[in-house]
Amino acid sequence: MTTRQRIVVIGAGYAGVMAANRLAGSKELAGRFGVTVINPLADFVERIRLHQVAAGSRGSASVPMETVLHPAATLVVGRASRIDPRAHTVHFDDGRAPLHYDFLVYAPGSAGLPAPSGSGGYALHDAQSAKRLKPALEQLAPGAVVSVIGGGLTGIEAAAEIAEAHPRLTVRLVSRRQMGVDLSDGCRRALLAQLRGIGVQIMEGERVDRSDGQHITLSDGTCLASHCTVWTAGFTAPGLARASGLATDAEGRLLVDSTLACAEFPEIFGAGDAVRAPDAVASHLRMSCATAMPMGAHAADNVIARIRQRSPQELSAGFMLRCISLGRRSGLVQPVRADDAPRRLAVGGRAGALVKEQVCRMTLSWIRGERRRSGSYSWPRGPRAARAQ
Ligand SMILES: Cc1cc2nc3c(=O)[nH]c(=O)nc-3n(C[C@H](O)[C@H](O)[C@H](O)COP(=O)(O)OP(=O)(O)OC[C@H]3O[C@@H](n4cnc5c(N)ncnc54)[C@H](O)[C@@H]3O)c2cc1C
Repeated sequence: MTTRQRIVVIGAGYAGVMAANRLAGSKELAGRFGVTVINPLADFVERIRLHQVAAGSRGSASVPMETVLHPAATLVVGRASRIDPRAHTVHFDDGRAPLHYDFLVYAPGSAGLPAPSGSGGYALHDAQSAKRLKPALEQLAPGAVVSVIGGGLTGIEAAAEIAEAHPRLTVRLVSRRQMGVDLSDGCRRALLAQLRGIGVQIMEGERVDRSDGQHITLSDGTCLASHCTVWTAGFTAPGLARASGLATDAEGRLLVDSTLACAEFPEIFGAGDAVRAPDAVASHLRMSCATAMPMGAHAADNVIARIRQRSPQELSAGFMLRCISLGRRSGLVQPVRADDAPRRLAVGGRAGALVKEQVCRMTLSWIRGERRRSGSYSWPRGPRAARAQ
Protein backbone atom coordinates (compact mmCIF):
# COMPACT_ATOMS: atom_id res chain seq x y z
CA MET A 1 0.00 0.00 0.00
CA THR A 2 1.40 3.45 -0.89
CA THR A 3 1.18 6.20 1.76
CA ARG A 4 -0.87 9.23 0.75
CA GLN A 5 1.29 12.31 0.28
CA ARG A 6 0.66 15.19 2.63
CA ILE A 7 0.24 18.93 2.28
CA VAL A 8 0.63 20.73 5.60
CA VAL A 9 -0.73 24.24 6.14
CA ILE A 10 0.64 26.20 9.13
CA GLY A 11 -2.00 28.63 10.41
CA ALA A 12 -5.78 28.51 10.05
CA GLY A 13 -6.44 32.18 9.41
CA TYR A 14 -7.73 33.86 6.25
CA ALA A 15 -4.77 32.72 4.13
CA GLY A 16 -4.38 29.24 5.61
CA VAL A 17 -8.02 28.17 5.52
CA MET A 18 -8.48 29.56 2.02
CA ALA A 19 -5.45 27.55 0.87
CA ALA A 20 -6.52 24.38 2.70
CA ASN A 21 -10.06 24.53 1.26
CA ARG A 22 -8.79 25.00 -2.27
CA LEU A 23 -6.40 22.08 -1.87
CA ALA A 24 -8.70 19.69 0.00
CA GLY A 25 -11.52 20.08 -2.55
CA SER A 26 -9.31 20.10 -5.63
CA LYS A 27 -10.58 17.73 -8.33
CA GLU A 28 -7.09 17.77 -9.85
CA LEU A 29 -5.61 16.25 -6.71
CA ALA A 30 -8.52 13.79 -6.53
CA GLY A 31 -7.80 12.80 -2.94
CA ARG A 32 -4.23 11.75 -3.68
CA PHE A 33 -2.95 14.24 -1.10
CA GLY A 34 -4.02 14.56 2.52
CA VAL A 35 -4.35 18.16 3.74
CA THR A 36 -3.46 18.87 7.39
CA VAL A 37 -3.85 22.28 9.00
CA ILE A 38 -1.96 23.21 12.17
CA ASN A 39 -3.45 25.95 14.35
CA PRO A 40 -3.17 26.76 18.07
CA LEU A 41 -6.96 27.12 18.48
CA ALA A 42 -9.76 24.76 17.46
CA ASP A 43 -11.82 27.74 16.22
CA PHE A 44 -11.35 30.10 13.29
CA VAL A 45 -10.83 33.65 14.58
CA GLU A 46 -12.31 36.54 12.61
CA ARG A 47 -9.42 38.82 13.45
CA ILE A 48 -11.06 41.74 11.69
CA ARG A 49 -13.72 41.76 14.43
CA LEU A 50 -11.42 41.68 17.47
CA HIS A 51 -11.93 45.36 18.28
CA GLN A 52 -15.65 44.61 18.55
CA VAL A 53 -14.95 41.81 21.05
CA ALA A 54 -12.66 44.06 23.11
CA ALA A 55 -15.22 46.87 23.21
CA GLY A 56 -18.02 44.44 24.07
CA SER A 57 -20.14 45.17 20.99
CA ARG A 58 -19.71 41.52 19.93
CA GLY A 59 -19.54 38.47 22.18
CA SER A 60 -16.89 36.58 20.23
CA ALA A 61 -14.94 36.54 16.99
CA SER A 62 -14.57 32.75 17.06
CA VAL A 63 -16.29 30.61 14.46
CA PRO A 64 -16.40 26.79 14.73
CA MET A 65 -13.63 25.53 12.46
CA GLU A 66 -15.82 22.78 11.02
CA THR A 67 -18.07 25.44 9.48
CA VAL A 68 -15.22 27.04 7.54
CA LEU A 69 -12.65 24.30 6.93
CA HIS A 70 -13.18 21.67 4.22
CA PRO A 71 -14.29 18.36 5.79
CA ALA A 72 -11.50 16.49 3.98
CA ALA A 73 -8.85 18.65 5.68
CA THR A 74 -7.59 17.51 9.08
CA LEU A 75 -7.13 20.11 11.81
CA VAL A 76 -4.26 19.52 14.23
CA VAL A 77 -4.57 21.81 17.23
CA GLY A 78 -1.06 22.86 18.21
CA ARG A 79 1.65 25.42 17.60
CA ALA A 80 4.46 24.81 15.13
CA SER A 81 7.80 25.71 16.70
CA ARG A 82 10.19 24.80 13.88
CA ILE A 83 10.20 23.63 10.29
CA ASP A 84 12.99 21.35 9.16
CA PRO A 85 13.00 22.12 5.43
CA ARG A 86 15.54 19.41 4.63
CA ALA A 87 13.75 16.62 6.50
CA HIS A 88 10.33 18.02 5.39
CA THR A 89 9.00 18.04 8.95
CA VAL A 90 7.09 20.48 11.15
CA HIS A 91 7.87 20.33 14.87
CA PHE A 92 5.58 21.38 17.73
CA ASP A 93 6.25 23.48 20.83
CA ASP A 94 4.88 20.73 23.11
CA GLY A 95 7.33 18.11 21.88
CA ARG A 96 4.80 15.79 20.22
CA ALA A 97 5.91 13.80 17.16
CA PRO A 98 6.67 16.03 14.15
CA LEU A 99 4.48 16.02 11.04
CA HIS A 100 5.96 15.09 7.68
CA TYR A 101 5.00 17.12 4.59
CA ASP A 102 5.52 16.82 0.86
CA PHE A 103 4.31 20.41 0.34
CA LEU A 104 3.98 23.13 2.97
CA VAL A 105 1.90 26.32 3.00
CA TYR A 106 3.29 28.78 5.53
CA ALA A 107 0.49 31.09 6.82
CA PRO A 108 0.92 31.87 10.55
CA GLY A 109 -0.19 35.52 10.18
CA SER A 110 1.13 38.36 12.32
CA ALA A 111 1.18 39.65 15.89
CA GLY A 112 1.12 43.19 17.27
CA LEU A 113 4.43 45.03 17.69
CA PRO A 114 5.41 44.74 21.34
CA ALA A 115 4.98 47.84 23.52
CA PRO A 116 8.23 49.67 24.40
CA SER A 117 10.20 47.86 27.06
CA GLY A 118 8.90 48.29 30.59
CA SER A 119 5.54 49.61 29.38
CA GLY A 120 2.25 48.28 30.66
CA GLY A 121 -0.94 48.10 28.68
CA TYR A 122 -2.90 45.87 26.37
CA ALA A 123 -2.48 44.45 22.89
CA LEU A 124 -5.23 43.78 20.34
CA HIS A 125 -3.94 41.30 17.80
CA ASP A 126 -5.45 37.92 18.71
CA ALA A 127 -8.45 36.40 20.47
CA GLN A 128 -6.68 36.22 23.84
CA SER A 129 -5.56 39.85 23.83
CA ALA A 130 -9.07 41.04 22.86
CA LYS A 131 -10.56 38.97 25.72
CA ARG A 132 -8.08 40.48 28.20
CA LEU A 133 -8.86 44.04 27.14
CA LYS A 134 -12.65 43.67 27.45
CA PRO A 135 -12.91 43.37 31.28
CA ALA A 136 -10.18 46.00 31.71
CA LEU A 137 -12.37 48.51 29.84
CA GLU A 138 -15.52 47.46 31.71
CA GLN A 139 -13.85 48.00 35.09
CA LEU A 140 -12.76 51.58 34.40
CA ALA A 141 -14.46 54.34 36.40
CA PRO A 142 -16.49 57.00 34.55
CA GLY A 143 -14.19 59.67 33.12
CA ALA A 144 -11.18 57.33 33.00
CA VAL A 145 -8.90 57.83 30.00
CA VAL A 146 -8.22 55.11 27.43
CA SER A 147 -5.24 55.77 25.13
CA VAL A 148 -5.10 53.86 21.87
CA ILE A 149 -1.56 54.06 20.51
CA GLY A 150 -1.20 53.76 16.72
CA GLY A 151 -3.17 55.57 14.05
CA GLY A 152 -3.32 52.72 11.54
CA LEU A 153 -6.61 51.05 10.68
CA THR A 154 -6.55 48.80 13.75
CA GLY A 155 -6.03 51.75 16.10
CA ILE A 156 -8.69 53.84 14.37
CA GLU A 157 -11.27 51.04 14.45
CA ALA A 158 -10.43 50.17 18.07
CA ALA A 159 -10.66 53.77 19.32
CA ALA A 160 -13.99 54.33 17.56
CA GLU A 161 -15.48 51.06 18.79
CA ILE A 162 -14.42 51.70 22.41
CA ALA A 163 -15.67 55.31 22.35
CA GLU A 164 -19.06 54.24 21.02
CA ALA A 165 -19.49 51.26 23.37
CA HIS A 166 -18.20 53.08 26.49
CA PRO A 167 -19.43 56.68 26.29
CA ARG A 168 -18.53 57.16 29.98
CA LEU A 169 -14.81 56.88 29.11
CA THR A 170 -12.53 59.42 27.46
CA VAL A 171 -10.87 57.83 24.43
CA ARG A 172 -7.69 59.30 22.99
CA LEU A 173 -6.09 58.11 19.76
CA VAL A 174 -2.36 58.91 19.48
CA SER A 175 -0.52 58.59 16.20
CA ARG A 176 3.03 59.35 15.16
CA ARG A 177 1.91 60.12 11.61
CA GLN A 178 -1.14 61.83 10.22
CA MET A 179 -4.05 59.42 10.33
CA GLY A 180 -5.62 58.13 7.15
CA VAL A 181 -2.87 59.60 4.93
CA ASP A 182 -3.56 56.92 2.34
CA LEU A 183 -7.17 58.07 1.99
CA SER A 184 -8.36 60.81 -0.34
CA ASP A 185 -8.38 64.29 1.25
CA GLY A 186 -12.16 64.28 1.51
CA CYS A 187 -12.23 60.82 3.04
CA ARG A 188 -9.52 61.74 5.56
CA ARG A 189 -11.50 64.83 6.61
CA ALA A 190 -14.62 62.69 6.97
CA LEU A 191 -12.64 60.16 9.03
CA LEU A 192 -11.44 62.78 11.51
CA ALA A 193 -14.90 64.35 11.71
CA GLN A 194 -16.57 60.99 12.35
CA LEU A 195 -14.01 60.05 15.01
CA ARG A 196 -14.49 63.40 16.78
CA GLY A 197 -18.25 62.99 16.41
CA ILE A 198 -18.18 59.89 18.60
CA GLY A 199 -15.93 61.61 21.11
CA VAL A 200 -12.45 60.34 20.15
CA GLN A 201 -9.71 62.85 21.01
CA ILE A 202 -7.13 62.83 18.22
CA MET A 203 -3.42 63.48 18.76
CA GLU A 204 -1.38 63.36 15.54
CA GLY A 205 2.40 63.77 15.22
CA GLU A 206 3.06 62.46 18.74
CA ARG A 207 5.11 59.43 19.73
CA VAL A 208 4.40 57.57 22.95
CA ASP A 209 7.62 56.32 24.53
CA ARG A 210 6.17 54.34 27.42
CA SER A 211 3.13 53.73 29.56
CA ASP A 212 2.42 52.58 33.09
CA GLY A 213 -0.97 51.72 34.57
CA GLN A 214 -1.87 55.42 35.02
CA HIS A 215 0.04 57.45 32.42
CA ILE A 216 1.57 57.61 28.98
CA THR A 217 4.79 59.55 28.36
CA LEU A 218 5.31 61.27 25.00
CA SER A 219 8.73 61.58 23.33
CA ASP A 220 9.03 65.24 24.48
CA GLY A 221 8.57 64.12 28.11
CA THR A 222 4.92 65.18 28.43
CA CYS A 223 3.09 62.89 30.82
CA LEU A 224 -0.64 62.38 30.30
CA ALA A 225 -3.20 60.45 32.34
CA SER A 226 -4.04 57.09 30.79
CA HIS A 227 -5.88 54.51 32.87
CA CYS A 228 -5.86 51.92 30.10
CA THR A 229 -3.37 51.93 27.22
CA VAL A 230 -3.94 49.85 24.09
CA TRP A 231 -0.92 49.31 21.83
CA THR A 232 -1.83 48.88 18.16
CA ALA A 233 1.22 50.52 16.57
CA GLY A 234 1.90 48.01 13.81
CA PHE A 235 2.23 44.30 13.16
CA THR A 236 5.22 42.00 13.36
CA ALA A 237 5.78 38.54 11.92
CA PRO A 238 6.01 35.38 14.04
CA GLY A 239 9.54 34.05 14.56
CA LEU A 240 8.82 30.63 13.04
CA ALA A 241 10.47 31.14 9.63
CA ARG A 242 13.59 32.64 11.19
CA ALA A 243 13.76 29.92 13.87
CA SER A 244 13.62 27.38 11.04
CA GLY A 245 16.59 28.89 9.22
CA LEU A 246 14.43 30.03 6.28
CA ALA A 247 15.22 33.30 4.48
CA THR A 248 13.26 36.20 5.99
CA ASP A 249 13.11 39.97 5.75
CA ALA A 250 14.15 42.19 8.70
CA GLU A 251 10.72 41.74 10.34
CA GLY A 252 10.93 37.96 10.15
CA ARG A 253 8.51 37.52 7.24
CA LEU A 254 9.25 34.51 5.07
CA LEU A 255 10.79 35.59 1.76
CA VAL A 256 9.02 34.07 -1.22
CA ASP A 257 9.32 34.63 -4.97
CA SER A 258 6.61 36.05 -7.20
CA THR A 259 4.91 32.62 -7.32
CA LEU A 260 4.88 32.60 -3.48
CA ALA A 261 7.43 29.76 -3.31
CA CYS A 262 10.61 29.78 -1.23
CA ALA A 263 13.61 30.07 -3.55
CA GLU A 264 15.68 27.52 -1.62
CA PHE A 265 12.85 25.09 -0.84
CA PRO A 266 10.34 25.18 -3.72
CA GLU A 267 7.96 22.77 -1.96
CA ILE A 268 7.33 25.53 0.63
CA PHE A 269 4.83 28.22 -0.33
CA GLY A 270 3.79 31.19 1.79
CA ALA A 271 0.68 33.36 2.10
CA GLY A 272 -0.74 36.17 4.22
CA ASP A 273 0.75 38.60 6.74
CA ALA A 274 3.71 36.32 7.57
CA VAL A 275 5.12 36.43 4.06
CA ARG A 276 7.06 38.97 1.99
CA ALA A 277 6.69 38.65 -1.78
CA PRO A 278 8.86 40.68 -4.21
CA ASP A 279 7.92 44.31 -4.86
CA ALA A 280 7.30 43.53 -8.53
CA VAL A 281 4.06 41.77 -7.54
CA ALA A 282 3.44 42.93 -3.98
CA SER A 283 4.77 46.45 -3.30
CA HIS A 284 1.17 47.72 -3.16
CA LEU A 285 -0.13 44.92 -0.94
CA ARG A 286 -0.73 45.80 2.72
CA MET A 287 -1.20 43.28 5.53
CA SER A 288 -4.93 42.62 5.38
CA CYS A 289 -7.40 39.83 4.89
CA ALA A 290 -8.02 41.32 1.44
CA THR A 291 -4.40 40.29 0.69
CA ALA A 292 -4.27 37.09 2.74
CA MET A 293 -7.18 35.36 0.97
CA PRO A 294 -5.90 35.84 -2.62
CA MET A 295 -2.42 34.82 -1.48
CA GLY A 296 -3.80 31.68 0.16
CA ALA A 297 -5.79 30.73 -2.94
CA HIS A 298 -2.86 31.50 -5.21
CA ALA A 299 -0.40 29.49 -3.10
CA ALA A 300 -2.84 26.55 -3.30
CA ASP A 301 -3.12 26.90 -7.09
CA ASN A 302 0.67 26.82 -7.35
CA VAL A 303 0.99 23.77 -5.11
CA ILE A 304 -1.46 22.04 -7.45
CA ALA A 305 0.48 23.30 -10.48
CA ARG A 306 3.71 21.90 -9.08
CA ILE A 307 2.11 18.52 -8.33
CA ARG A 308 0.62 18.41 -11.85
CA GLN A 309 4.01 19.42 -13.29
CA ARG A 310 2.82 22.77 -14.63
CA SER A 311 4.71 26.02 -14.07
CA PRO A 312 3.60 27.97 -10.99
CA GLN A 313 2.14 31.36 -11.92
CA GLU A 314 3.10 34.80 -10.60
CA LEU A 315 0.79 36.37 -8.05
CA SER A 316 -1.48 39.10 -9.35
CA ALA A 317 -3.66 40.65 -6.64
CA GLY A 318 -5.09 44.12 -6.18
CA PHE A 319 -7.64 46.05 -4.19
CA MET A 320 -11.10 47.52 -4.80
CA LEU A 321 -12.13 49.07 -1.51
CA ARG A 322 -10.74 50.20 1.77
CA CYS A 323 -13.35 49.76 4.51
CA ILE A 324 -13.09 51.24 8.00
CA SER A 325 -15.59 50.64 10.78
CA LEU A 326 -16.10 53.56 13.15
CA GLY A 327 -18.21 51.86 15.75
CA ARG A 328 -21.41 50.02 14.84
CA ARG A 329 -23.30 53.04 13.53
CA SER A 330 -20.71 54.63 11.30
CA GLY A 331 -18.05 53.63 8.80
CA LEU A 332 -16.06 54.78 5.80
CA VAL A 333 -15.70 53.02 2.50
CA GLN A 334 -13.11 54.38 0.09
CA PRO A 335 -13.02 52.87 -3.41
CA VAL A 336 -9.39 52.38 -4.46
CA ARG A 337 -7.51 51.41 -7.61
CA ALA A 338 -5.86 48.01 -7.87
CA ASP A 339 -2.66 49.52 -6.43
CA ASP A 340 -4.62 50.81 -3.39
CA ALA A 341 -4.51 54.46 -4.54
CA PRO A 342 -7.73 56.18 -3.45
CA ARG A 343 -10.45 57.14 -5.91
CA ARG A 344 -12.42 60.29 -5.21
CA LEU A 345 -15.76 58.94 -4.10
CA ALA A 346 -16.33 57.61 -0.61
CA VAL A 347 -19.29 56.37 1.40
CA GLY A 348 -19.49 57.41 5.05
CA GLY A 349 -21.81 57.40 8.05
CA ARG A 350 -24.44 54.70 8.45
CA ALA A 351 -24.18 53.59 4.81
CA GLY A 352 -20.43 53.13 5.34
CA ALA A 353 -21.10 50.99 8.41
CA LEU A 354 -23.55 48.81 6.46
CA VAL A 355 -21.09 48.26 3.59
CA LYS A 356 -18.25 47.45 5.99
CA GLU A 357 -20.42 44.90 7.82
CA GLN A 358 -21.35 43.29 4.50
CA VAL A 359 -17.68 43.07 3.53
CA CYS A 360 -16.85 41.36 6.86
CA ARG A 361 -19.64 38.84 6.24
CA MET A 362 -18.55 38.26 2.65
CA THR A 363 -15.03 37.47 3.84
CA LEU A 364 -16.37 34.43 5.69
CA SER A 365 -18.72 33.51 2.87
CA TRP A 366 -15.84 33.48 0.35
CA ILE A 367 -13.93 31.07 2.60
CA ARG A 368 -17.06 28.93 3.01
CA GLY A 369 -17.71 29.10 -0.74
CA GLU A 370 -14.26 27.66 -1.31
CA ARG A 371 -15.11 24.92 1.19
CA ARG A 372 -18.18 24.02 -0.91
CA ARG A 373 -16.47 24.33 -4.30
CA SER A 374 -12.71 24.44 -4.72
CA GLY A 375 -11.66 27.16 -7.18
CA SER A 376 -14.79 29.28 -6.65
CA TYR A 377 -12.98 32.21 -5.03
CA SER A 378 -11.62 34.86 -7.38
CA TRP A 379 -10.07 38.23 -6.63
CA PRO A 380 -9.20 41.54 -8.28
CA ARG A 381 -6.00 41.39 -10.38
CA GLY A 382 -2.97 43.48 -9.48
CA PRO A 383 -2.12 46.88 -10.97
CA ARG A 384 -1.01 46.99 -14.60
CA ALA A 385 2.52 48.18 -13.74
CA ALA A 386 3.08 45.14 -11.52
CA ARG A 387 1.62 42.86 -14.20
CA ALA A 388 3.92 44.27 -16.87
CA GLN A 389 7.14 43.58 -14.93
C1 LIG B 1 -8.42 44.43 15.40
C2 LIG B 1 -8.04 44.15 13.97
C3 LIG B 1 -8.84 44.63 12.94
C4 LIG B 1 -8.50 44.37 11.61
N1 LIG B 1 -9.33 44.84 10.63
C5 LIG B 1 -9.04 44.54 9.35
C6 LIG B 1 -9.92 44.96 8.32
O1 LIG B 1 -10.93 45.62 8.56
N2 LIG B 1 -9.62 44.58 7.04
C7 LIG B 1 -8.51 43.85 6.74
O2 LIG B 1 -8.31 43.51 5.56
N3 LIG B 1 -7.66 43.46 7.70
C8 LIG B 1 -7.89 43.79 9.00
N4 LIG B 1 -7.04 43.37 9.98
C9 LIG B 1 -5.82 42.63 9.59
C10 LIG B 1 -6.16 41.19 9.27
O3 LIG B 1 -6.83 40.62 10.36
C11 LIG B 1 -4.90 40.40 8.96
O4 LIG B 1 -4.18 41.06 7.95
C12 LIG B 1 -5.29 39.00 8.51
O5 LIG B 1 -5.86 38.31 9.61
C13 LIG B 1 -4.09 38.24 7.96
O6 LIG B 1 -4.49 36.94 7.63
P1 LIG B 1 -3.49 35.71 7.83
O7 LIG B 1 -4.22 34.50 7.37
O8 LIG B 1 -2.18 36.02 7.23
O9 LIG B 1 -3.25 35.65 9.41
P2 LIG B 1 -4.28 35.34 10.58
O10 LIG B 1 -5.66 35.64 10.21
O11 LIG B 1 -3.70 36.04 11.77
O12 LIG B 1 -4.13 33.78 10.79
C14 LIG B 1 -2.92 33.19 11.19
C15 LIG B 1 -3.25 31.93 11.97
O13 LIG B 1 -2.02 31.24 12.21
C16 LIG B 1 -1.99 30.82 13.57
N5 LIG B 1 -0.59 30.66 14.00
C17 LIG B 1 0.29 31.60 14.38
N6 LIG B 1 1.47 31.05 14.69
C18 LIG B 1 1.33 29.72 14.50
C19 LIG B 1 2.19 28.61 14.67
N7 LIG B 1 3.45 28.77 15.12
N8 LIG B 1 1.72 27.37 14.41
C20 LIG B 1 0.44 27.20 13.94
N9 LIG B 1 -0.41 28.22 13.77
C21 LIG B 1 0.02 29.46 14.04
C22 LIG B 1 -2.71 31.98 14.28
O14 LIG B 1 -3.13 31.56 15.57
C23 LIG B 1 -3.87 32.23 13.32
O15 LIG B 1 -4.94 31.38 13.56
C24 LIG B 1 -7.35 43.62 11.32
C25 LIG B 1 -6.55 43.12 12.35
C26 LIG B 1 -6.87 43.38 13.66
C27 LIG B 1 -6.00 42.83 14.77
